[in-house]
Amino acid sequence: MRIHSLLSTLSFAMLALVVDARAAEPHPQIPLWDKAAIEALCDPTIDRWRHMQATMEAKKDSAGILAEWNGLAIAISDLDGPLSLIANVAVDQGTRDAADACELKITPFTTSLFQSEALYRRVRDLKPGDAIDRQYRQDLLENFEDAGVTLAPEKRERVKAIRQEIADLGQQFEKNLRDDRTNVVVSPAELAGLPDGYVKAQPKDADGNTLLSMANPVYIPFMQLASNADARKRYWIARQNYGGQANIDLLNRAVALRLELAKLYGEPDYATFVIKRRMARTPAAVYRFLDDVHRAAAPLEKAEVAELTQFKADDQKLPVAEVKLDRWDTSYYQEKLRKARYDVDQEALRKYFPTEASIAYTLRIAETLYGIRFVPSQAPTWHPDVRVFDVVERGKDGAKDGAADGKFIGTVYLDLFPRPGKYNHAAAWPVRPVSTLAKQKAAPGYRTPLSALVTNFDRVGLNQDELETMLHEFGHVMHGVLSRTRYADQAGTSVKQDFVEAPSQMFEEWARREDALKFFAEVCKDCPHLSHEQIERLQQAHRYGRGSRYARQWVYASYDMALTTPQPDEAMDAWRKIEGDTPLGTYPGTRFPASFGHLMTGYAAGYYGYLWSEVLALDMLSGFHGKLMNPVDGQRYRADILSQGGQEPPERLVERFLGRAPNSEAFFQEINGQR
Ligand SMILES: [Zn+2]
Repeated sequence: MRIHSLLSTLSFAMLALVVDARAAEPHPQIPLWDKAAIEALCDPTIDRWRHMQATMEAKKDSAGILAEWNGLAIAISDLDGPLSLIANVAVDQGTRDAADACELKITPFTTSLFQSEALYRRVRDLKPGDAIDRQYRQDLLENFEDAGVTLAPEKRERVKAIRQEIADLGQQFEKNLRDDRTNVVVSPAELAGLPDGYVKAQPKDADGNTLLSMANPVYIPFMQLASNADARKRYWIARQNYGGQANIDLLNRAVALRLELAKLYGEPDYATFVIKRRMARTPAAVYRFLDDVHRAAAPLEKAEVAELTQFKADDQKLPVAEVKLDRWDTSYYQEKLRKARYDVDQEALRKYFPTEASIAYTLRIAETLYGIRFVPSQAPTWHPDVRVFDVVERGKDGAKDGAADGKFIGTVYLDLFPRPGKYNHAAAWPVRPVSTLAKQKAAPGYRTPLSALVTNFDRVGLNQDELETMLHEFGHVMHGVLSRTRYADQAGTSVKQDFVEAPSQMFEEWARREDALKFFAEVCKDCPHLSHEQIERLQQAHRYGRGSRYARQWVYASYDMALTTPQPDEAMDAWRKIEGDTPLGTYPGTRFPASFGHLMTGYAAGYYGYLWSEVLALDMLSGFHGKLMNPVDGQRYRADILSQGGQEPPERLVERFLGRAPNSEAFFQEINGQR
């Protein structure tokens, strides 16, 4: 599974090159399987799991079941973890396809595993030894229930078939996007407004026209900067249709299957079925929360649209009554207004955030806050662009001779730049979950974690959004690598889905705040430095447009919820209804949901979690007492939140870190611009 959402050697001066002398065995690495290797491994590995399952089923006594289960979960993750990444980053298409094909064989195994009555009884009858065991037993029991162990045999079979088909549909949906090579052709004149570097980087046809792909690093700058409205319109429409009717059909099928699945369990709808396992507990709680968000964001959005329409009218020297703001206008005029009002030019920011320095900055922040070091590793990778780091303890107060200094913690892979056939957004993969219960030959003797960051950044420099993305995804990576849970199933980002974004969303703040940004000087002496006044303006520019931003997130979350009710509308009808009610309306002949991958890959009835998590993210930020680079709070955060993964409910972890119950004050202050 993946968590949504970035070179040479410049500026790595702060990375002390210390070799961990205790590591006699090499640290775990991501295996570089090719097509043949995956095909040879797949069936025998799954057979081995079946054998493990049979051995576990043969025992009657409950004792030892959690440790046995941990062993099996690790065996599964040793195949599934790398495969899920390889399917998205392997250079060779045959390898990506083989990884996809093998992954599809894993779903029926895990479903039948959790349909085993013998294993269910062993887990159910267990007397847990402590709170962590109690939580793990509870998690497993919920998985058994959700897989249908208590259902009649024919229903159980249907559950299995549905889960398999949903996994299949999700994979097909993503594949359609990856393999969609639609290009929009624009003339040299239509590139007016784009920087030279951008123009040079895009492929050309024989007539000297430029071909624009559907990838975000190509699409987003064009929508922000191209002054030709016709070209923006053409590109916008093509991007809205990315994935095509084929993906809408897949989405409709998935919606129907999810409803059928919920009904097999006697639940009225899919939302009720899945949200009962989350922080929110009920769809009603989600709707109440979304209503609050809408109440706060809608008036702001309306005012912003009116302001932007006036801005467009002034720009075109037309009376405002004759001007309509179209969806392909918003990014362009927002960007222009930001430049005019706050003197913030996102393209010019790339100078301040060179890509290499931005990577060094991200690592530097994590080192300072969490008392760790990143040591470049020579582990082999699937592409020369990919970098690997060992993560090690920095020791007490960073003293090199401190007791724990150099102690190996885990491994980080960074695959930062675009290439054909690669996953085209930004995401983190928790490839290898930690487990302190599982032995490992290499230091420190228990199973160490490994996470991978996959992005599609510009090689020269980042703008502010991209720097935020870098920190966001790195937040997921740190959640994976700094967790130290007993069980692999509870490692790192294996938390409730409406909490999983919180650590990452909180980490975005480090892309904006002065006390953090001054560390850029330490990692890049030659970079131009942002002044206090420039950073203020950056923050104001970031706050600008927040009404539209939160209102858009509300649209996505409401749409997702609308597809999980007892009687969901057809996917495009539901979309047109919700988007049609917004100030900018909906544009005929487009189908945004065809590329809304979240709905097909595990976020169904879960997209609200981005907003829900942000409540906790902004609340947790208060635990840093306004000093973002304070290592005391950083280490406390590492211990109370990151290291605990899912072994305790998130409410309790946040309460321990904050010393009080979490609340949504900071979140609504943020929307209202009072923060
Ligand atoms: Zn995320």
